[in-house]
Amino acid sequence: MMDSISLKEMKIYGYTGCLPEEKENGQFFFVTVDMYFGDIPGRITDDLNDTVNYAEVYGIVEDIVSNGKFNLIEHMAYEVGRAVIAYSSLIDSVKVKVRKPDAPVDGEFESMETVISVKRKEAVIGFGGNMGDSEKIIEEALEALRADPAIEILRLSSLYETEPVGYDDQADFLNGCALIRTYLEPLELLHVLQKIELDFHRVRTIKNGPRTIDLDLLLIQGVRMNTEELTVPHPRMYERAFVLVPLKEIGMYNGEIPGGKEVKLYRKQGML
Ligand code: ADP
Ligand code: MG
Repeated sequence: MMDSISLKEMKIYGYTGCLPEEKENGQFFFVTVDMYFGDIPGRITDDLNDTVNYAEVYGIVEDIVSNGKFNLIEHMAYEVGRAVIAYSSLIDSVKVKVRKPDAPVDGEFESMETVISVKRKEAVIGFGGNMGDSEKIIEEALEALRADPAIEILRLSSLYETEPVGYDDQADFLNGCALIRTYLEPLELLHVLQKIELDFHRVRTIKNGPRTIDLDLLLIQGVRMNTEELTVPHPRMYERAFVLVPLKEIGMYNGEIPGGKEVKLYRKQGML
């Protein structure tokens, strides 16, 4: 069993709905927020700083429900869940129930309602580079990742010096990987990584060619997807020793390492 804190049946006037009169006149919504924790440190310390302050959570929910103009209570519940989980990294997951007793439906009913969950998940990011001071660039890229309040770095591999794959006429790479925890959606996470790549002036010229920093989304807990923009697990990771060796180090892979290109331990990270 996980520890939890709930705010039940908060009655808040809002303007969410598909019909023009719902957006215009509004109605009451009843919102229940259940927050789940690995454990609540405050149960031992008896200190308000070691738990979530439910008065503040109430304020966050009230702001979204009363000011948001969504079509769907599903989306309103999702926005509430995202704002609540962002409020404290102690929270592992949030379940939001929204009831709409005055929904514009002919007939007798108690309420129309939805339940939406938002969870933190583990994911693995692979990183590498071979232009400029790669060690420094990787450290700065990891700093940028750490600075994102939606992302925590849980574990970091060592750095490995690896021979280029796919296009040989270039310098050796430094590679590594990080186990992170985030409530971001897969595409949002990819976009965070792409923004960091751009900030370090990664230019995409030659396929598999030299780069200041490459950040790949290798794995996401419980996610398998294949879209034009994003494939998870990363489609080529199981062929690449430079991915699998650091992955094995952080305990996220226990299969064979394919041979071929050389992978050498470069140095211990010591950043975590
Ligand atoms: P590679 O990382 O294989 O050397 P690039 O970084 O140049 O190649 O490729 C990036 C492209 O791959 C992006 O357009 C991105 O949308 C797509 N992509 C698909 N799946 C992933 C993933 N799991 N991680 C990172 N990029 C991905
Ligand atoms: Mg990439």
